[in-house]
Amino acid sequence: MNELQVPGAAAGWRQHHAAQQPRYPDPQALAAAAADLRTRPPLVFAGEVDSLREKMESASQGRAFVLMGGDCAESFHDNTAINIRLKLQTILQMAAVLTYGASTPVVKIGRMAGQYAKPRSSDTETRGGVTLPSYRGDSVNDHAFTAEARVPDPQRMVDAYLRAGTTLNLIRSFTMGGYADLREVHSWNRGFTANPAYKRFESFAEEIDRAMRFMEAAGVDFDALRQVDFYAAHEALLLEYEDAMTREDSRSGRLYDTSAHFLWVGERTRGADDAHVALLAGVHNPVGVKIGPTTTRDELLALVDRLNPEGDPGRLSLITRMGADRIRDVLPQLVEIIRADGRPVTWITDPMHGNTITSDNGYKTRRFDTIMEEVRGFFEVHRSLGTVPAGIHVELTGDDVTEVLGGGEHIDEAGLARRYETLVDPRLNHQQSLEMAFEVAEMLRS
Ligand code: PEP
Ligand code: MN
Repeated sequence: MNELQVPGAAAGWRQHHAAQQPRYPDPQALAAAAADLRTRPPLVFAGEVDSLREKMESASQGRAFVLMGGDCAESFHDNTAINIRLKLQTILQMAAVLTYGASTPVVKIGRMAGQYAKPRSSDTETRGGVTLPSYRGDSVNDHAFTAEARVPDPQRMVDAYLRAGTTLNLIRSFTMGGYADLREVHSWNRGFTANPAYKRFESFAEEIDRAMRFMEAAGVDFDALRQVDFYAAHEALLLEYEDAMTREDSRSGRLYDTSAHFLWVGERTRGADDAHVALLAGVHNPVGVKIGPTTTRDELLALVDRLNPEGDPGRLSLITRMGADRIRDVLPQLVEIIRADGRPVTWITDPMHGNTITSDNGYKTRRFDTIMEEVRGFFEVHRSLGTVPAGIHVELTGDDVTEVLGGGEHIDEAGLARRYETLVDPRLNHQQSLEMAFEVAEMLRS
């Protein structure tokens, strides 16, 4: 990565309609924050981004499986060592189980180190007769329900950058320093299956035990398995931030968005002629698009035209979020359209966002069983069409929060009140995440 700064590098996006952007009261403060970010070091490097792109290609062909997970919205307040470690631990534990189920490497990607901006269905929020601008993520405004807190502050982008940097630093230390040791991760999973609530996974865990003993007997160098590659991803929502983090790679002359390895555009900003797609069209990172049940043939093909015109494998992931009750009806047509087009994509399921409900006691929640039903539908559709279910994208945390109904702990509506902490969408807790991993591993192997 060279020192050359590229202000407005992939600046074509400025000519396009930009949805979901904050209205900053002071344009000069915005320009100053963006100028500051342009002088800062990249958070990720071109070589790492390219290696992820190759892994996404492997996944699209069934030679790897993608696990993408983390908070709906990271928060500055929760940017602590313990939170980062627990989330990483959860993802590593899930990955170990999935590796066994898939018999392929698992590509580990955190919705971490930059997931600080949120699209909202309404510009305002009303509580107790008071209407204020919506919370748009910690890189934009503050969650507190006061007029002052909700004013967008561009300096928060710089804060988000710094926190993303410290998060990545800790992730790199853990994953390079032995914390990801497969033997250790497997022993944590044994702790999980020792819980009577998860007894049904015991024999699966015993199989993994046997496989580990076999590897040891065969002389596998476990010390070589102490380090893992771990990648960072977030929704590329805040255009000024992503633009300011875009750099030219001196070796190739290509532009990279150095705020994360992988970036996606959300269901609300995926217009093929809109600014978010234009921004991602200009960078070489592997990218994703969330697609919901209303996606049309023309929209889908226009997205491929913009984001992957040459059909480079590993470049474009389609992250489907259909809802458990729609996926079997809606997904097959979309898969057929892509197949007929011929340009490759990496199919990933997001079983969270099509299955959000409000509980009778007023919590935004999801049911564990419904989430799993969408994952099952995803596998069924791809298997029946002979295409590759390449990965899962989930909202999770390493904590024992109570935000999603059901699972082995049988969280019920009253239980939601115990520890409901998310700033936006409900997350699987640590146990529910592992439960999902074991169930998906069983699907992968059948
Ligand atoms: C999200 O991933 O938190 C999100 C808002 O998803 P979607 O764009 O699919 O609604
Ligand atoms: Mn979400």
